[in-house]
Amino acid sequence: SDANQDVVASPSPSVSVFGSERRWADTTSYNTKKKLQAWFQLANGDWELGKIISTSGNESVITSEGKVLTVKSESLVPANPDILDGVEDLMQLSYLNEPSVLYDLQYRYNQDMIYTKAGPVLVAINPFKKVPLYGNDFIEAYRNKSTENPHVYAIADTAIREMIRDEVNQSIIISGESGAGKTETAKIAMQYLAALGGGSGIEYEILKTNPILEAFGNAKTLRNDNSSRFGKLIEINFSETGKISGARIQTYKLHLKSGNDYRYLKQSDCCSIDGVDDALNFHIVTKALDIVHVSREDQESVFAILAAVLWLGNVSFTVIDNENHVEPLADECLVTVAELIGCKVEELKLALSTRKMRVGHDTIIQKLTLSQTTDTRDALAKSIYACLFEWLVEQINKSLAVGKRRTGRSISILDIYGFESFERNSFEEFCINYANERLQQHFNRHLFKLEQEEYIQDGIDWTKVDFEDNKDCLNLYEKKPLGLLSLLDEESTFPNGTDLTFANKLKQHLQSNSCFRGDRGKAFTVSHYAGEVTYDTTAFLEKNRDLLHMDSIRLLSSCSCHLPQIFASNMLAQSEKHVVGPLHKSGGGDSQKLSVATKFKGQLFQLMKRLESTTPHFVRCIKPNNNQSPRSYNQGLVLQQLRCCGVLEVVRISRSGFPTRMTHQKFARRYGFLLLENTISQDPLGVSVAILHRFGILPEMYQVGYTKLFFRTGQIGMLEDTRNRT
Ligand code: ATP
Ligand code: MG
Repeated sequence: SDANQDVVASPSPSVSVFGSERRWADTTSYNTKKKLQAWFQLANGDWELGKIISTSGNESVITSEGKVLTVKSESLVPANPDILDGVEDLMQLSYLNEPSVLYDLQYRYNQDMIYTKAGPVLVAINPFKKVPLYGNDFIEAYRNKSTENPHVYAIADTAIREMIRDEVNQSIIISGESGAGKTETAKIAMQYLAALGGGSGIEYEILKTNPILEAFGNAKTLRNDNSSRFGKLIEINFSETGKISGARIQTYKLHLKSGNDYRYLKQSDCCSIDGVDDALNFHIVTKALDIVHVSREDQESVFAILAAVLWLGNVSFTVIDNENHVEPLADECLVTVAELIGCKVEELKLALSTRKMRVGHDTIIQKLTLSQTTDTRDALAKSIYACLFEWLVEQINKSLAVGKRRTGRSISILDIYGFESFERNSFEEFCINYANERLQQHFNRHLFKLEQEEYIQDGIDWTKVDFEDNKDCLNLYEKKPLGLLSLLDEESTFPNGTDLTFANKLKQHLQSNSCFRGDRGKAFTVSHYAGEVTYDTTAFLEKNRDLLHMDSIRLLSSCSCHLPQIFASNMLAQSEKHVVGPLHKSGGGDSQKLSVATKFKGQLFQLMKRLESTTPHFVRCIKPNNNQSPRSYNQGLVLQQLRCCGVLEVVRISRSGFPTRMTHQKFARRYGFLLLENTISQDPLGVSVAILHRFGILPEMYQVGYTKLFFRTGQIGMLEDTRNRT
């Protein structure tokens, strides 16, 4: 029939994620035989629910919304009984497969229940509208435990309780794509912590840091009108009595974007900033700066430096000789920048158009070409802005520390980019995915520990649980000297290194690594935990080299602007203390600076060190559509994110364990009547074992603990179906 053409005959993609394990095929054929509901896939990839009418050979006839279709039996995926519609924890599903997970989330999302648990993980789907889930009444409800609906408040509540009970620091790790709702989620968690730990007044200051950081650290992008351009870790300190005593913010500005991505270049006729020139927002920001004790005078300077950055973007150049060397036009732009940052016009001109090089014992002055000067100018603007941002964070931290020693406990909230996989992936994705590989390892270890504790407690053999491990991929990145990062740094320091020589070097040294594949031309593929990603090495070396030259640094450290401490100390420290990689002979100072990837790795290790001493709580934010619009749920998009942020991985991990648990008593009560013999007189364990034998549940499918029975996925589903038909 016509309708058949809608149906994809190939095996469903869920097979690849959930493994083509035999028991999975078993449950499918079981479902097919028993004529139950099943998922089938449309040509567009969406899943639809159908009822199996008959099966012959390897084909099944199903009905769905009035249509009758014939599909390959092996492409059907078992669906859960209706009674499990919209369960609040995905682990409660008898059949844990992709369409069932997607359906559960969508079912809840349609009713504004944007939060769902996936075992220990909270999944949050961005509603892109106001949902009635926040505010004092809700905070009270979670504080009193009068509701059990999954919520960020519940996560924050658990964090506070565990911090007090176990005397261990906590962390709330929020990840997801751009626009998925990470920053909003972090603010919602902060609200709850502020409400419960409030009293000293410092909580008010903590909440006020958001508009400042967003004003200076966010930008409108294609994917999010208010996109954070930095990662953030905010640590909220508590006293012994559970009251907030201070806070500290650490930002992970990634330094990854090239100058061209900054708006200042595109609005060349205008020195006001979008969003900030809006009177109200400006007022909110200055008020917030007051609250965190940035003086009015310093605020003036902050805006002067912002203006300098914008003016710098407008500086233009003119050719001065027949070797295409250029120098900046001494116009209003150049003069204004010099005035705003407090240096002589001539000094600025030199810093922008020449480079001092050391050759042996001599210093020579090299003139620059247009592309070199533009890079120098953009690198200078970028670093002035970065320093300004760092300075602001420092001021906020001074204010939040309120002179107390950090003796008590803390809860840290991490708002950081999730795994990214686009059609074209570059250096930025390469770094972000590396960070996510580390966070995933942290996540796996935590999950493994939780599971292991429960198994040991109930006396079952946990060596039979097979856990995912991503150490091979981390090794591929970090191994010295033949790992991705080392090879990148090495090639970046070679004057003749190009993206192509870099790609070839990777292929030469890493071809035998199971997580690596060299591709055609300048591309290579890495097998990440969340799937394969192909990276295009174009501009890798350039982005990895820090373009800020010593001449610029010297200029900034000598200038007399109002906030000299913003500059200089920071940058000089960064560039002169650390020396990496072999130095190339002719370059002198510049090549000694830390590469971007190495700085990134350093920050990542510091972050991991801090997180490792905490009990983590995970929130995964999901963007349901690409239009920032409410009530629209794109299955394919959600599925891809569920894979990337490891939610399906949790599901997969628990499938490889024994996710379904039931006490002996409950099991005997629930299924005992299915036995033919009288079971009343027997003990629950005896009855349970009899049921297991009677229904032929294979020994590898369950384990008997001291108090509970542990089952692999799908086992209870079969018993439930038998029970319902009896
Ligand atoms: P980026 O990585 O680009 O910083 P993000 O994940 O931090 O993105 P947010 O800025 O938190 O994304 O969210 C994007 C937008 O989605 C918000 O400006 C808001 O309009 C909406 N949004 C997110 N979460 C919620 C929520 N819980 N309720 C209502 N709207 C929300
Ligand atoms: Mg954000």
